[in-house]
Amino acid sequence: MFNSLSEKLESAFKNLRGEARINDLNVANTVKDIRRALIDADVNFKIAKEFTDKVKEKAVGEKVINAISPGQLMVKIVKDELTELMGGTEAQFNITGNPAIILIAGLQGSGKTTFTGKLAHYLKTKKGKSPLLVAADIYRPAAIDQLTVLAEQVGVDIYSERENKDAVAIAQNAIKEAKAKNKNVIIIDTAGRLAIDEAMMTEVANIKQAVNPAEILFVVDSMTGQDAVNTAKAFNDRLDFSGVVLTKLDGDTRGGAALSIKYTVNKPIKFVSSGEKMDTLDVFYPERMAQRILGMGDITTLVEKAQAQYDEAEAKKLEKKIRKNQFDFQDFLDQLAQIKKMGNLKDLMGMIPGVGKAIKDVDINDDAFKGIEAMIQSMTPFERSNPDAMTPSRKERIAKGSGKSIQELNAFMKQFEQMKQMMKMMNNMPMGGRFPGMKR
Ligand code: GDP
Repeated sequence: MFNSLSEKLESAFKNLRGEARINDLNVANTVKDIRRALIDADVNFKIAKEFTDKVKEKAVGEKVINAISPGQLMVKIVKDELTELMGGTEAQFNITGNPAIILIAGLQGSGKTTFTGKLAHYLKTKKGKSPLLVAADIYRPAAIDQLTVLAEQVGVDIYSERENKDAVAIAQNAIKEAKAKNKNVIIIDTAGRLAIDEAMMTEVANIKQAVNPAEILFVVDSMTGQDAVNTAKAFNDRLDFSGVVLTKLDGDTRGGAALSIKYTVNKPIKFVSSGEKMDTLDVFYPERMAQRILGMGDITTLVEKAQAQYDEAEAKKLEKKIRKNQFDFQDFLDQLAQIKKMGNLKDLMGMIPGVGKAIKDVDINDDAFKGIEAMIQSMTPFERSNPDAMTPSRKERIAKGSGKSIQELNAFMKQFEQMKQMMKMMNNMPMGGRFPGMKR
């Protein structure tokens, strides 16, 4: 995410390398490079200039204390300003009302329908809500089908009226349905067009007026940069929406939309969406995003994702097995599945400070473990729980079954053995190999 911007900012900070103090000249050079980096990331010139003026003012006014270098100080100032530019603190998401009404608007193809499904998943799994999805796109029957599929995937109900051509009436009927069925949130997916269109705006504005939503979320494709910002402005002028959802952050996004939207429409980004799977939705935290842009990683999010998957009883069982040296192939397969549930592997690794940059050109995807999984899946239950009982004929069968060579199987088994030894050693260390103060 935002790789090119991160690289250019890092290179801008190099102006200060070896400098003992901040002075007008070295600040001017750094700031010029930062401005260039922002403009290249598709941030509007005016915003970039205002941003760097602020950075400059702060940097020149700052006393460099002995403990930190001018470069470190500059990174800190830029981090604070990026955080501010993206909204400062995270925005609240309003789900008051019974049902709470959430209206989704945006251009066609922005990721509106996908987001509607993801939001339902989020509200159901993280907030304990019982959402009803509403298909208010009266022009494209395919949109109703798409939402139906997503609702099924997420395990929530959907309300649609295929013959009704009045989107306002559909929304109103959906509220009645929600009350009758005890649904406490309704999420209305509206029709989009390929470009700003008066009829589309009027329709969404009419729905807004009729149902008085707690939230109106404007969904925008982050890949579209400045266009995203202009579209946001047009929608906001008409709808006065309450928050922005940035989609497709898993793509090769330059960053312009994320950095400029809040400034331009003065509405916070509330969610970011980064994938086609239903669990790839995150609440937007400006500071964490600023840290990621600056290559500082995002350990907070990583830990939260791990905690969401953490099962105390399972962890205890596993710990016991490791201590007794009984960790087996089946356990390994289960652990891989847990990691995968946390999200896209490359994204996860990118949250570790310093790692994002190191692996940016490495092709890591969720298939990385496929070979290993295939080998374990070709083992019988007995073989999975008895790694020591492997015989040449068993190996031959497993290799054949998984489409791997005996050498590959041997290499994996050797690695597995080393990993087991390592885990056992860590487990026998004081505090079980954990850092002091870390929660068990
Ligand atoms: P709508 O027309 O605004 O309802 O857009 P859709 O929800 O149909 O999304 C348009 C396309 O973008 C579909 O192919 C989605 O699978 C894809 N899409 C949506 N959100 C994301 C995302 O966060 N990341 C990626 N990579 N693709 C997305």
